[in-house]
Amino acid sequence: MAATFKELIGVPEIGARWDKVRRYFFLRESTYDMTRRCNLRCDGCYYYEGAKQHAKDESDPAKWRTLFEAEKERGITFVVLAGAEPSLVPELCRVCYDVIPLGCIASNGLKPFPKEIGYRIHVSVWGDDEESKRFRGRACLDQQLANVAGDDRIVFVYTFTKRNVDQADGVVARIAEAGGRITFNMFSPPVGYEGELALDAGAFAAVRAKMESLLVRHPKTVLFSRYNAEAHTDPERSLHARYHCPYPRCNPDTRLGLGRSFRQYRSDLTWDRSVSCCVPDTDCADCRHYAAGSAIVTARMAQHVGSEESFRKWLDYVDTYLAVWVRGYEKGENLYK
Ligand code: SF4
Ligand code: SF4
Repeated sequence: MAATFKELIGVPEIGARWDKVRRYFFLRESTYDMTRRCNLRCDGCYYYEGAKQHAKDESDPAKWRTLFEAEKERGITFVVLAGAEPSLVPELCRVCYDVIPLGCIASNGLKPFPKEIGYRIHVSVWGDDEESKRFRGRACLDQQLANVAGDDRIVFVYTFTKRNVDQADGVVARIAEAGGRITFNMFSPPVGYEGELALDAGAFAAVRAKMESLLVRHPKTVLFSRYNAEAHTDPERSLHARYHCPYPRCNPDTRLGLGRSFRQYRSDLTWDRSVSCCVPDTDCADCRHYAAGSAIVTARMAQHVGSEESFRKWLDYVDTYLAVWVRGYEKGENLYK
């Protein structure tokens, strides 16, 4: 017989983790493209697909301040600043931080952010230097490490592609040596992508094995769990197919959760519900993106309370999500071994 919820949280380590994560259930996210400019041109970038790349940049900090104040009023408590590349407009990121102090910036890490912007910063890594030169136009890791050594805001994000699975060993070892932390992403192709980075069934299995082995070898460096690996490398089902994505782009319901509150603003301060999610212009049928999963899987607690094993998995996922996205939140030991 399945355990009741009361019985589940009656297991001491599960109850303690539940109490730890539920304090963050007040987080309500929206995302903001801070600029259409970038200092890289990566193969398969979802930003330079679709309409958002053509938005005219709003560069007046006063207009951004007015927007963020309205967002705060609307109940948004967590911002994700993205773009193209937010480090090219630090003054706008600073305005946001003044108004809404919890959030995260997605960056390529080639330019550091001013110290007074206290957000979590995600720095994208796409493989070793040769791979980076080929698919992003230049080697990045040396400069990224030089920019962020000792900076507790930083979490590196390694995007697995079909080509770079084994390169992760060397990259994670370098981040570990530098005292940094890293989590894992899956290349999720933009609509219509025909390049060489998209994963296939064989690659999904290899990525899962690599994630699990790095988790064991670098437990202090790698922010991830076995369930994260399982959820993101399912060869048959994208996140949408497996969990049913609640972002407005996939979800017509405007009454609850992300369907009610989430907006994805373009760099001209407009937004469009029909295309709004954290990775617009990504192909939903192949979406395994880490940012997408952070909202999609965590929203599906009800799908995970049928057994102790399943609830342990979900708690690991939420604990990982909070450690990756919220500065100051420390990840605990995974409950599902
Ligand atoms: S750094 Fe990011 S925004 Fe810039 S081109 Fe690469 S993937 Fe796109
Ligand atoms: S791309 Fe991913 S996050 Fe965006 S709407 Fe589709 S399934 Fe959801």
